Amino acid sequence: MKEVYPGIFLVREKGSFGNFKPTENIYVIAGEDGLVFDAGFGNKKAIKHFLKELEQIENVFNQKNTPFSITRIIPSHCHPDHFSGLQQIRKKKGVKILLTERMVEIIKDKKSFMQSFNADGYTDYLIVKKGVKRKFRDFILKLFTSFFYKLIYGLSYINDPDEIIEEDSIIEINGESWNLSYTPGHAIDHVSLYNEEKGILLSGDNILKSITTWLGPPNCDIKEYIGSLDYIHSLPNLKVILPAHGELVENPKERIEEILKHRENRTKLVIKIVQEHSKIGVSPSDIIQIIYPNEKRMLREIARGWICLTLKMLEQSNHVRRIEEDNIIKFFPSDKI
Ligand SMILES: [Zn+2]
Repeated sequence: MKEVYPGIFLVREKGSFGNFKPTENIYVIAGEDGLVFDAGFGNKKAIKHFLKELEQIENVFNQKNTPFSITRIIPSHCHPDHFSGLQQIRKKKGVKILLTERMVEIIKDKKSFMQSFNADGYTDYLIVKKGVKRKFRDFILKLFTSFFYKLIYGLSYINDPDEIIEEDSIIEINGESWNLSYTPGHAIDHVSLYNEEKGILLSGDNILKSITTWLGPPNCDIKEYIGSLDYIHSLPNLKVILPAHGELVENPKERIEEILKHRENRTKLVIKIVQEHSKIGVSPSDIIQIIYPNEKRMLREIARGWICLTLKMLEQSNHVRRIEEDNIIKFFPSDKI
């Protein structure tokens, strides 16, 4: 563990399988009435590591003769790398699990969790063709939610949180006020935690230092994501961002502007490609081929996420229109562009 700010400790959980199970940051706002932000993995090894680190934090307090008690835990959002450890940490440390209404809806049981992957017609973007491919995708999803997530992430569902918390509310931690804010975009239930006096934001997956956060259907939304970034950018006295993956962001405003610019450029690029194919139209796969001609298949499939979401956004704002023929969705410029 590392004290990243007086009284705020970072516990890092090792990942594996590359992007599939990323290294995770858990933050402990330590003191007499402390809180843990994000729960990480729920595997035996991960929990053992977390408890050991927590013990070390307690030792720091004991040496200074200051009271230490961690009373609550809250995830930034309900992706498996952020909530899987909740159940075990509660069991071992007796902390209360705080969840928002939206979080409970997602992780209360396996059925709800699976449903959260199947939101709307835009999922079509992901599968391109219906029929067998769709069935195959559903099969893979089922395998992940019932087997791999459990095995690799130590996932367990929560249908009995100790407290339901409002998405925009104030949490008192060690006698200080922290603002919980609803910041969707990367995930439909994403929240961030801010202390204005310290200028510290716990941002979950919204803002990462060196990689762009994953965006893809069905539960991400680029417009909402941009709205959340604008909101965070406007926070008074923002000094440092503690993200859920990677290193601290010590130039938060600059980094947010960089991400916003990146998104803007990506949107312009998709518009340009659609315009250049105004007669024959382009499918999401065509766009992937144009932007990533030489990338590995896995990377191209990951990129499908932001491309589909960008098309969704442009379709909703009437910049592009879709035509579906022979199970292939093609996009054409609308009169607006
Ligand atoms: Zn996430």
